[in-house]
Amino acid sequence: MTGGAQGIGEAIVLGLRNAGARVFICDINPEVGNATAERHGVEFVPADVTDSASVEAAFEHVATAAGSIDVAVNNAGIAHNHASEELSDEDWRRVMSVNLDGVFYCCRAAGRRMLRQEAGSIINTGSMSGHIANRPQPQSAYNAAKAGVIHLTKSLAGEWAGRGVRVNCVSPGYVGTELTKRGMSNEEWRRAWIDGTPMSRVAEPREIAPAVVFLASEASSYCTGTDLVVDGGYTVW
Ligand code: NAD
Repeated sequence: MTGGAQGIGEAIVLGLRNAGARVFICDINPEVGNATAERHGVEFVPADVTDSASVEAAFEHVATAAGSIDVAVNNAGIAHNHASEELSDEDWRRVMSVNLDGVFYCCRAAGRRMLRQEAGSIINTGSMSGHIANRPQPQSAYNAAKAGVIHLTKSLAGEWAGRGVRVNCVSPGYVGTELTKRGMSNEEWRRAWIDGTPMSRVAEPREIAPAVVFLASEASSYCTGTDLVVDGGYTVW
């Protein structure tokens, strides 16, 4: 479970734990990650998803400790807001490396192990931003990376469907977390986000987690390549 230290990831950790899973939080932030793991009675493994060696070491640690990896949730992500004409190479690369490279490295590490056991469920955190371009805030790198996550999910689902491994995606709309805190404190952005959402509110992290638990479980045995959008209706307008 990457990016499980806080926010949506923490809610997913709880959802999976309550469904009976042995959960490992893999996160770049050991301070918050260890505290969250302790609070919820799960385990913490440090990992930076932008570094494929770090990802490989974390998956190996979990596979050795648990005996097998049945579910992998690739949720770590960051957001930057820069006008595209001013966006630096570094800022573009940073968002792509966490949000898209990182998801690929984790899918590959999970897939290798799950294909060997001919079973497994991978769930990536996409975003409604992979379907629409948010407004008014500029975030072209984020939107492009999330569209990439959704299409990567479909590509891997097609490759691995015949070998027992399902790959799906959950795409939230606006959720109240650290990631959206700055935007919510900007009255113009907050108003646009709420007015653009038919349900007229942002989600709580716990409202995203059940979609992940569903895709992790046998209840979704015929789902692969699915993008489950949980957005309060944002993408209907
Ligand atoms: P958050 O900032 O609260 O949590 C993100 C977590 O990812 C943190 O624990 C952070 O330490 C971890 N992380 C960041 N970089 C990492 C790295 N290189 N390696 C390992 N871990 C790393 O954000 P959140 O809102 O909970 O977002 C979780 C996911 O949901 C992200 O993929 C985000 O893009 C997606 N999402 C969020 C929203 C929203 O409105 N909050 C909407 C749609 C999609």
